Formats: sequence, structure tokens, C-alpha cells
Amino acid sequence: MNNYTVTLIPGDGVGPEVTDAMVKVIDASGVRINWEVEEAGEDAYRKEGTPLPERVIESIRKNRVAIKGPVTTPVGKGFRSVNVALRQSLDLYACVRPCKSYKGARTRYENIDIVIIRENTEDLYAGIEFPKGSEETLGLIRYIKDTTGRSIREDSGISIKPISVFGSERIVRFAFEYARKNGRRKVTAVHKANIMKFSDGLFLDVARNVSQDYPDIEFEDRIVDNMCMQLVQKPELYDVLVLPNLYGDIVSDLGAGLIGGLGLAPGANIGDDCAVFEATHGSAPKYKGLNRVNPLAMILSGVMMLRHLGEDRAADAVEGAIKEVIEEGRYVTYDMKPSPDDPTAVGTSEMAEAIIKKIKI
Ligand code: NAD
Repeated sequence: MNNYTVTLIPGDGVGPEVTDAMVKVIDASGVRINWEVEEAGEDAYRKEGTPLPERVIESIRKNRVAIKGPVTTPVGKGFRSVNVALRQSLDLYACVRPCKSYKGARTRYENIDIVIIRENTEDLYAGIEFPKGSEETLGLIRYIKDTTGRSIREDSGISIKPISVFGSERIVRFAFEYARKNGRRKVTAVHKANIMKFSDGLFLDVARNVSQDYPDIEFEDRIVDNMCMQLVQKPELYDVLVLPNLYGDIVSDLGAGLIGGLGLAPGANIGDDCAVFEATHGSAPKYKGLNRVNPLAMILSGVMMLRHLGEDRAADAVEGAIKEVIEEGRYVTYDMKPSPDDPTAVGTSEMAEAIIKKIKI
């Protein structure tokens, strides 16, 4: 059995509770991992004046694999998003979010097995923004008027949506490679190319071109609004979805809703050199320290990490145990019970213990 060193970022809010549960379960799978714990987020900001000390990035660069709990991003003040900074500094351009339903989970749907692949570095999330009334914004508004003849109201704020051939090609290629490696049959590119012809239109053109290199995988495209309706009405038709950043973010939460909520939705941010695994959900501050929230999204992110490390047997063993616990429906957190105030709901750590007991290695 291999020894691995993995950077572990516990995060804020419920982060430390769910990462603790994940570490215990992954350790019980028999894979030997040396967890290199690094602080990022509110505590790091208080102690070191930065929410993402360089040391954290260095640790991930060295180990090439990290797993992190959610980190709080203060709204409108304080520090910028640690998540966005991590993705940008490590060039983690692909966000992979599998949406798989497990028997017994409380959801309106059965047999969901969709993988959402979101571009992580461009689009309206590139962070290129112009505030209302600033000199630069007014200059930009004048430039647009001079070059296109189109008027923008002077009291507008402006966010820029860059989508490049480079960024689109590598994410679409990633989606096709993922499909091939994981025995998937179809890739659907999601866009709004009918309206945004030069950004989403470019994404779609690139996707069509890249698809020619993968004749073994079916390719189609959907307009994002139609995609949302189709996912709600007939999710079984879809397999791997590839989307620019903003639509990917929104459709990921839709996908989490299909499988029973944020408590069950794992994820990974992957680049050519490093991979950072993390749940789709945030730090859920109101539940901090209560041992209440569902650890599954984090544990399933750990399962994805095991597969990334090539430890498929251990991953299967943990996933099998998770399936049993969900199907039994006894030792599960409040969000997986018929009603959120169900007195039989267990806590975060108890659910992890129940999973550990069922791991067969
Ligand atoms: P959130 O995901 O933290 O919580 C929204 C609600 O979803 C919670 O109140 C809870 O009802 C439910 N929920 C979330 N996780 C759950 C779990 N494991 N089990 C059961 N229920 C769960 O979203 P938010 O309130 O919009 O964000 C809170 C903070 O988290 C913000 O500062 C935001 O920026 C940050 N955030 C971080 C990440 C990340 O680190 N990757 C992702 C999203 C949001």
C-alpha cells in the first residue's frame, strides 16, 4: 500500500467538522495518507493578515493533491475569495461535480448519474469589474459609444465576460477525456450562443471542433435555459455536461438539488499539475460547531480523491459503505430525514462512524 501526502485545509464554519469526518472515513479505507494540515480562510486572515498564505499554495504545489473544507467569503468587505484565488494561482481550470443519486436519498429523482464539468478561470468570474461612476468605468462607456455606437447608462456597473479559444478548448478537451476515461457516452456543451455570439458563440464553436477528435463520444449542445428545464424534466438523458464558469456554477447547484441537496454533492478542481477536492456546499455558518450538517459531500469528495490517486478499491469500499448507510436511512443527518426536525437524525460525526463500521476491506 502506498503512502501519500495530501494537503488538508479544514476551512471555516462547518469545514472543520466535515473534514474531520472525511479524514476518519478515508483513514478507515486502509489507504495511508499523511495529512499536511494548512489553515486558510478567516483564522489565517486574523493571524497572518492574509486568508491564503503562500505556504498553503506551496504545500499544494509540492503534494499535488489537496482536499479542503468550505471557506467563508465575506460579502462586500474583508478578503477576496480563497476559492477563486486558489483556482487562479494553481490554474485549476476544471471543476468536476458528479451528481449521482443513491437509493434512499430524499430526492424526487432516481438513477441520476450526471457529471458537470465547469470552466473555472474565465467568464464573468474572471473578476474584471468596473464600479458605477468611476473614471475607468466612464472611460469604458465612452470607448464603447465611440467604437460601437451603443450607449450604456452612466450609472452602470460593468463586469467583463472573457471567453477564450485557449480556455474553451482545454475545458472541452478535459470533458471528452473524462468521458473516455470513465466510460461515458455523451458530452453536452451548454451555452447561450444565440445571445452572446462572441463569447458563448466562441465556446460553442470550439466545442464543436474539439468534438471531431472524439468520434467515439456523442456530442450535442443545449442553450442554458433549456438545459435547466430538461435537467428537471428528463435528467436521465444527460451524461457529461461542459459549461463556461457562470452557468457551471448555477447548474451545479441544480444538479445537487437533483440528487438530494448540497449535503450530498462532492467536487474537485483540477489543473494540469494539481487537484483540490472540495464539497460543492459552503461553510454554512449558522451550523458551525453544532455537529449537525451532512458530511457526505466532503466524504464523497474524499472518494473522488482516492480515485484520483488510483486507489479504486478503497474508493469502492467507502462508496459501498456510504450506499448502505443511505439506504438504511437510520444513521443519517437531518437533511436526509423526512423532516429536518426529525428527532432520529444523527450528527456529523455519528454518520461518519456509521460509514466506517460498514467499510469492508
Ligand atoms: P452554504 O452552502 O454554506 O449553505 C447554504 C445552506 O445549505 C445551509 O444553510 C444549509 O441549510 C445547507 N447546507 C450546506 N451544506 C450542508 C451540509 N453539508 N449538510 C446539510 N445542509 C447543508 O451556502 P451559503 O450560505 O451561500 O454560503 C456560506 C459561505 O460559504 C459564504 O461565505 C460563501 O462565500 C461560502 N462558500 C464557500 C464555498 C467553498 O469554500 N467552496 C462554496 C460555496 C460557498
